[in-house]
Amino acid sequence: MKIYADNAATTKMSRRAIEAMTPYLDNIYGNPSSLYSAGQEAKEALERARASVARCIGADPAEIYFTSGGSEADNQAILSAARIGKRTGKTHIVSDMIEHHAVLHTLERLEDEGFEVTYLPVHENGIVRPEEVEAAIRPDTCLVTIMYANNEIGTIQPIREIGKICRKRGVLFHTDAVQAVGHIPVNVKDDNVDMLSASAHKFHGPKGVGFLYAKRGVRLANLIEGGAQERGKRAGTENVAGIVSMSAALEESYEKTEVTAERLSALRDMLIDGLSKIPHSALNGDRTRRLPSNVNFCFEGIEGESLLLLLDDLGIMASSGSACTSGSLDPSHVLLAIGRVHDVAHGSLRLTIGEETTEEEVVYMIDSVKEVVERLRSFSPVWRDLNAGVKEFIL
Ligand SMILES: *Cc1c(COP(=O)(O)O)cnc(C)c1O
Repeated sequence: MKIYADNAATTKMSRRAIEAMTPYLDNIYGNPSSLYSAGQEAKEALERARASVARCIGADPAEIYFTSGGSEADNQAILSAARIGKRTGKTHIVSDMIEHHAVLHTLERLEDEGFEVTYLPVHENGIVRPEEVEAAIRPDTCLVTIMYANNEIGTIQPIREIGKICRKRGVLFHTDAVQAVGHIPVNVKDDNVDMLSASAHKFHGPKGVGFLYAKRGVRLANLIEGGAQERGKRAGTENVAGIVSMSAALEESYEKTEVTAERLSALRDMLIDGLSKIPHSALNGDRTRRLPSNVNFCFEGIEGESLLLLLDDLGIMASSGSACTSGSLDPSHVLLAIGRVHDVAHGSLRLTIGEETTEEEVVYMIDSVKEVVERLRSFSPVWRDLNAGVKEFIL
């Protein structure tokens, strides 16, 4: 059996998304900036895609800027707000401790340039408290940036309430919605969002394309200078095939958001219930306020990397927030932020299911994880110490 359970890392392209893009890789290759008909045909496809993407998140087409993906959109949103802030002497930003590195590293760069950032805690359930956002806002705050849903532990933030607070206080609000768009209902107007980032490859579109929503009136700063594409805010000949494909993928996801979410939530809960039976384990993140696809556990006494390798032998493609997988020795900043100590955070496993996941696969995953955790524990010195009472169990 081959099971793909890493849909938070990327998703398989849908048939519809692949078919939508092929004409633009083939005969319709004109440059959208060219005035002859072949160019204009590409330009029209681009604008149809813009209108379609806008409709799926409740925006106006003029508020959508195509980018190379979620990371670029995050960078552009945050750096734009910082530029606006700097002009008016506002150099304070509010964010939280579990953001994606596309946000965190951009904020670090701004800190080097003299900005001050408040990183709000997310407490043990991985959720930011709106009242703490409100309390953190100061007269010199130029931006609040809080992700819609977390990529590691799947927690969904109270975006609407946070947006309302930001609107009331007159502070720009950006949300990294890369894990949310196409998976749960997102509406920029209802959510009081000023800027939002999304990425096609997280909702069955192609890699290397995404978009930034910026509410009318928000002055974006360019990351890339050059031609006048994207109304002068993002230079470079447009990735027409990718953009058209992204809009097809988003439309498809949008049409069945609720049905998919309901089906996946049931499978997710089955997986959570099954894995909870493993002794000395714990679910990471909130039990209900989480993405329909996300399951994340810590198992005491084992290393996440060994777990992944053995699961791979059994045909299961999963992920862990720790050491080798992310190329650093530190455990996941997200797991540390929800209070997991280093040792426990190292024994983490993320399974993110998708539309193709079946009940049979969920059963197989539960059995496989149980078996592999038992096997790893049987020759783990840490596990031996825990059972001998030399060390105390945390979970
Ligand atoms: C994947 C991801 C990104 C980065 O998107 P890319 O298109 O891969 O650059 C940013 N934020 C979150 C929450 C993500 O899951």
